[in-house]
Amino acid sequence: MTVISDSIVAARVPFSVTLQAGQTMRIVDLESQQAVDALFYNAHDTTERYSAQDTLAAQAARGGKFYLETGAVLLSNEARPMVTITADTCGFHDTNAGACSCESNTVRFGHETRFMHACRENFLAELGKYGMGKRDLVSNVNFFMNVPIRPNGELTVDDGVSEPGGYVDLRAEMDVLVLISNCPQVNNPCNGFKPTPIRIIISD
Ligand SMILES: [Zn+2]
Repeated sequence: MTVISDSIVAARVPFSVTLQAGQTMRIVDLESQQAVDALFYNAHDTTERYSAQDTLAAQAARGGKFYLETGAVLLSNEARPMVTITADTCGFHDTNAGACSCESNTVRFGHETRFMHACRENFLAELGKYGMGKRDLVSNVNFFMNVPIRPNGELTVDDGVSEPGGYVDLRAEMDVLVLISNCPQVNNPCNGFKPTPIRIIISD
């Protein structure tokens, strides 16, 4: 494998890149406990995009897990493989809890949070670079985010379990546009209440 790019993504900001099929993207949680929200689109036809529903339904059909682990194949809304998790030091990643937004912040944490920065704003800004907008903002993956299910069925966001320097590797199974929001949330523990930088390494 040859490294073709190596980038630091500052705390709170978006990032995007197009991976060619066969390339691998490593996301490094440099300081630990940093949620990294991600969206995936077919680089040649963005109406084909990541689908948490198709991905989890396929995992369930194989007797698999509720979370995304090494070996997980992330499927599109056309049930085609987009990326595969080929290595992971964290153990599991969420794809149910969605991305934080100003609107959900007000419901969860109070109206005074209305003007805090959120992943949905990051995604909309980055989608605009590719001629996309709100209708293209679909289900996402939350790498390094710990979302346990309580006995009563509630999803909660708990302290992240990723260690400093922890990483996840994603191998592109098609030419895929990846959008990332380095989550700016400070009202729950998904970023340890302190958003931090991440590193993105792409290898061919
Ligand atoms: Zn967020």
